[in-house]
Amino acid sequence: MGKSTLFNRLTGTRRSIVTDEPGITRDRIYGTANWEGRNFQVVDTGGIVPEDRAAIPRDILKQAKVAIESATVLVLVVDARTGLTPLDEELARLLRRTGKPIVMAANKVDSLQQVEVTGPLHKLGMPVFPLSAEHAFGVDELLDYFVEKVFPPLPPGAPPETGELVVADPKVSDDTAAIRVAIIGRPNVGKSALLNQLAGEERSIVSPVAGTTRDSVDTLVSRGGALYEFVDTAGIRRKGKTKLVAEKLSVIMAIRSVERADVALLIVDALEGVTGGDATIASYAEQSGCSVIIVMNKWDLALEAARKASEAEKLKGAQHRESLQHRESPREKNRKGRSPSGSRRDEDPRALALRSLTNPALLMTEYEKLVRDKLKFLSYAPVVFLSALTGERIPNLFPLIDRAAAARRRRISTGELNRWLAGVDLERGTSPATRKVKIYYITQASSAPPTFVLFTNQPARLHFSYERFLENRLREAFDFTAAPLRFLQRLKERGHRERGKKPSKPRRTRA
Ligand code: GDP
Repeated sequence: MGKSTLFNRLTGTRRSIVTDEPGITRDRIYGTANWEGRNFQVVDTGGIVPEDRAAIPRDILKQAKVAIESATVLVLVVDARTGLTPLDEELARLLRRTGKPIVMAANKVDSLQQVEVTGPLHKLGMPVFPLSAEHAFGVDELLDYFVEKVFPPLPPGAPPETGELVVADPKVSDDTAAIRVAIIGRPNVGKSALLNQLAGEERSIVSPVAGTTRDSVDTLVSRGGALYEFVDTAGIRRKGKTKLVAEKLSVIMAIRSVERADVALLIVDALEGVTGGDATIASYAEQSGCSVIIVMNKWDLALEAARKASEAEKLKGAQHRESLQHRESPREKNRKGRSPSGSRRDEDPRALALRSLTNPALLMTEYEKLVRDKLKFLSYAPVVFLSALTGERIPNLFPLIDRAAAARRRRISTGELNRWLAGVDLERGTSPATRKVKIYYITQASSAPPTFVLFTNQPARLHFSYERFLENRLREAFDFTAAPLRFLQRLKERGHRERGKKPSKPRRTRA
């Protein structure tokens, strides 16, 4: 119908939506739009596509429901050229039950002359906006309608919203509340097994906390005086889905649960290694601003596989040596022994790899490098290896969750921050291509996730590598384990405080 195109049009992004398998929209689903001084969030319920008809309405619609329930206004996108389909009418009926304002985007109307094709669409009794998402025709009228008729007005005297994402903390964390933990990951990586371990014996209260939707069920666990809320765990247990539907649900579940979490446990099957699907889910966790711990589960299986591989290699090696001994003359062997590199057999990299296979600690170090390589954007997330089945190494997890949650809520005073800044050799971070950056002052604007405002001498966004440099120094000085850090930038202007002079717009950057 053009939902994705409309989403791109509204949010001003030009990312193409890549569909690997029918029905799976792999691009981001949440975006920010700005119109007439108003910011608003656009949610593409990506995934309701005609090919899914067999799976609709039960599972997919149930998930789209989450987006629908949190929305202020619903936009039903239909193809004006083909007219209403029974599916459109069914969707309209379902949407109407929410009691929320609904409008119809009658897409693929490229010009005024074509508007008349939308006549029959009015029969559903909702405002119809003929538009072309692709050619931007008619989209302004839809936006005007939102701003004038749907969104609550801004409080009198409030400045217009800027179009920059407002860094607010929707999850308002305070230290006495439960730590909200999302267990996310592809199907079959061991999410429910891990939840059972974490909630299992330690569980003192396990109660479904009524969420906003019927199928949102949180599990409360009290442990060592602290309270943990595992969010949206009902979805974890949904079984018996086709592979495609299960994969899709796992992404949707992840998106919605990280939204409400302080800490996300991204579960990966250590036997399989990090897949594209894991990376997709990881990217949502990264965007959400919650702290992230990468959990390589099924460590027992990975160890077992490594052991087997190492035995097979050893056997192959022995056979190889034996055949060499049969072939090589004593003189040749002698020459080899005196090779200039002097390398002994057990020093070559292959031998090292083999040794690491049989040495769990070394295997973990080597494996962690592979994981980091695949999930570069989560460089701040600790990687842990454990087995949800055997319980091996699970006790390490709770202290790490505590630390990750505390890091996310950490607030550093302005005094402390500027003392830190004075000690940073800022010259070292300047990349040759950029003008010399001066950072005059830094302050923490908010926590959860920790967000810092830098007052600098240039309006352009700091170079990525410079930002990374600052982030690394900050992490060395303060414990921000597992927590993402965000930086906002302001140009320090002369006369900044002069009356009537507008301070520069903060630029939001992502660390
Ligand atoms: P979910 O779909 O992510 O919730 O995955 P489940 O928790 O249902 O686990 C999928 C399968 O993997 C089940 O058969 C589990 O018993 C198994 N499993 C989970 N964790 C481990 C583990 O650490 N080691 C082994 N060997 N099997 C595991």
